[in-house]
Amino acid sequence: MKHIHAFQVFPKLPGSLNFLGVLSRNMWWSWKPDAIELFRRVDPRLWEASGRNPIVFATQVSQQRLQKLAADDSFLAHLDRVRQQFKERVLASPDLAENPYSGGARIAYFSMEFGIHESLPLFAGGLGVLAGDHLKSASHMGLPMVAVGLLYRQGYFRQLLDPNGWQQETYPETDIYTLPLTRVKTGNGDLRISVPHPNGEMLADVWKIMIGRVPLILLDTNVVENPPAVREVTARLYNSEPGVRLAQEVLLGIGGMRALTAMGIEPTICHMNEGHSAFANVERLIQVMERHHLDIPTAMEVVARTSVFTTHTPVPAGHDEFPLDQVQPYIKPLAKQLRVNEEEVLSWGCTGNSTIPHGPFSMLILGLRFSQHCNGVSRLHGHVARRMWRHVWPGHNDSDVPITHVTNGVHVSSFIAPEVVMLFERYLGPEWHYSSRKPENIERIDEIYDEELWRAHEMSRTRLISKVRELLVNQYARRNAPIAVVRAAENALDPERLTLGFSRRFTTYKRANLILRDPERLKAMLVDKERPVQILFAGKAHPQDNEGKDLIRNIVQFAKHHDVRSQIVFIEDYDMGIARYLVQGVDVWLNTPRRPLEACGTSGMKAAMNGALNLSILDGWWDEGYTPERGWRIGSGAEYPDPAYQDAVEAQALYNVLENDVIPCFYNRTTGNMPTEWLAKMKASMKMAMAQFCSHRMVNEYQQRFYVPGVRRHRELLADNAAEAQRLSVLHQRLKSLWQEVRVEMPDRDHEGPFQVEDSFTVSTVVHLGALTPEEVDVELYYGRMQRTNDLEEGLTQPMEVVETRGGGTFLYRCTVRCDDSGRYGFTVRVVPRADDWIRFSPGLLTWA
Ligand SMILES: *Cc1c(COP(=O)(O)O)cnc(C)c1O
Repeated sequence: MKHIHAFQVFPKLPGSLNFLGVLSRNMWWSWKPDAIELFRRVDPRLWEASGRNPIVFATQVSQQRLQKLAADDSFLAHLDRVRQQFKERVLASPDLAENPYSGGARIAYFSMEFGIHESLPLFAGGLGVLAGDHLKSASHMGLPMVAVGLLYRQGYFRQLLDPNGWQQETYPETDIYTLPLTRVKTGNGDLRISVPHPNGEMLADVWKIMIGRVPLILLDTNVVENPPAVREVTARLYNSEPGVRLAQEVLLGIGGMRALTAMGIEPTICHMNEGHSAFANVERLIQVMERHHLDIPTAMEVVARTSVFTTHTPVPAGHDEFPLDQVQPYIKPLAKQLRVNEEEVLSWGCTGNSTIPHGPFSMLILGLRFSQHCNGVSRLHGHVARRMWRHVWPGHNDSDVPITHVTNGVHVSSFIAPEVVMLFERYLGPEWHYSSRKPENIERIDEIYDEELWRAHEMSRTRLISKVRELLVNQYARRNAPIAVVRAAENALDPERLTLGFSRRFTTYKRANLILRDPERLKAMLVDKERPVQILFAGKAHPQDNEGKDLIRNIVQFAKHHDVRSQIVFIEDYDMGIARYLVQGVDVWLNTPRRPLEACGTSGMKAAMNGALNLSILDGWWDEGYTPERGWRIGSGAEYPDPAYQDAVEAQALYNVLENDVIPCFYNRTTGNMPTEWLAKMKASMKMAMAQFCSHRMVNEYQQRFYVPGVRRHRELLADNAAEAQRLSVLHQRLKSLWQEVRVEMPDRDHEGPFQVEDSFTVSTVVHLGALTPEEVDVELYYGRMQRTNDLEEGLTQPMEVVETRGGGTFLYRCTVRCDDSGRYGFTVRVVPRADDWIRFSPGLLTWA
């Protein structure tokens, strides 16, 4: 046999089952419990074996089985119900009470990864799952969103552990014909785009997957016309080769914008989910210039006011930076199109305010520089990001740096246990997944009978334990473990015990081994006869991160000890499927990051909405979510200069809270074998997650604060041949060229104090505006409580008025200050442009006394 031509035969769907084919080609099914159930019902065993991928599944179901279902009334009724929902939720246009997006507005959402479902391997972890959740909520809410990403043939790696617990990576090739992809077509046939590459150009095919109503556009360089190295560009997610990373990021940003244009989509808003896609700004600038016949500064006024940039981590290694000479070949053709020199384009990604770039080229700075709307992903992360990136806005105090926060949220339907769904449907009503918009709905969680909630949770825990046993058996068998170990795995864990879950990326700052610091103390808890504890671990370390791999090995080694083997396990190859089992079935979700390095964290939210209680360091979202009614904190939210000391203190705190609070609370069964106090916490925790930490709340916040105002601004800026953008551009240039003449003399006050509450005094200062006029600037008193470091906490401002014109551009300004509260205060005076936020926060346009 020389040539084997493969061909695939799909069963022929009987007419009445045609909808199954339609359903399998829109990822909407993946978050509709009723739709998942429909597939599962066709053949439960095959459904699991296919990796819950409806397209793979369809190739394996027998024709006979399909014929039988085609005549099964109950199945057909189920199918009809799902079809009806599909019609309403996907095919019908969204009914928005007053549509803020009329006139064809489009929001483009760029991300390096998208986690929609485990059968679609386009993600590595939290960032991707968050992006997936964003799209699912946007689909539900009817936002006119289009998403852009890359199509990876090998995705992120699959994790296997060797017998010692050392992580091995494999990169199985995804058969893209098993994904619900379609080629994007234009008038000329299949769409193919090209972007600059140091060796000429890089071609990419353009694919589409539907996420409910939202198209996800994926670029793919695996094109025969590309040289082999370029074909490999989209092979893997988070390749550690910087050159490949850079090529991917150019493709995502530049190529993504080009693909949208070729499809006839002109984004009104661009939302960049992390810095990887920040090159989109450069291409968008070119497109806006060309389409609307504008010069660069004017196009910039449009692009910046309609861009949203979200940063996701305070860990410096999480931000891609490239040497200037590596970026330069990509920039060259773009600079030509922009008709500026390459240095200027490079300077957009560098710190400092000069057009001579001082490397490295930072994707994050490129993102911040082009976006009026910048945000971190929790309240605490907002603070940290303002401190971290203040050098991009020289002269501004931390609290004024224009980075706000939108706390992440999770897509409820994707992660909620079927047992809880049944309760929510009964108690909260059919629109339970939309409860964040109806607070009175959420309160009904209190009405759920304790017995019902506890049974539901016990069912989820039992389901988790059986799944874990099945996974462990496979895991040990593959590692050629002794038969006794495999046998023991069949009975590992116990569905009645207090179950802790810890699963996330294994990286040093997340401190997976904090709980192993005192092995004897941990062991005592695990093997306690009366009140035993069991712990499930899962998670991947980045292939290059040996310290992360060490953490995994430590856990596996500890779990090998005969006496704890049945109480502590590590589950390989964490993904969304395993995450669902875990967050639904555990009692306690453990998180031990080194504050403030966890920007948000979302797995704890998934656990909370299922009734698991969080036990966590006050970091990320838990710093906002924690109250004693809802769970436990480890430590007091302190930050330490010495990490070893911090670990020692916080490990003690962790053991103490487990021994004194968590374990007694769980095993305190006063009424009818139920932990009453625990159940009250479960309900409080579920209410919290549904109200504050679901992705509908998050997307709605982006919508109200950024998308809707941005869409309106886009229309205003471009109306009448971009008259408003031109006006702003002229104003901006004028301010920039004249600002160096602005000077503020030291302010004076009319008496020195001391003052009592309700006293007031006046502050006067002489301001030199040069050629600028008082109508073009705001002179502000800037005041606040003094910190120990002779600096102001959170600065407040109060406008000052011109009281005297002294000629030659010099004015006397004054205001009255009232002492509202006692304390040590300080003040100073500053001048800023009188304009919208984009101009106000332009680097350089700020002068202090
Ligand atoms: C939710 C989720 C994450 C993110 O969890 P963190 O708490 O941010 O670590 C990672 N991976 C998967 C598979 C998830 O479902």
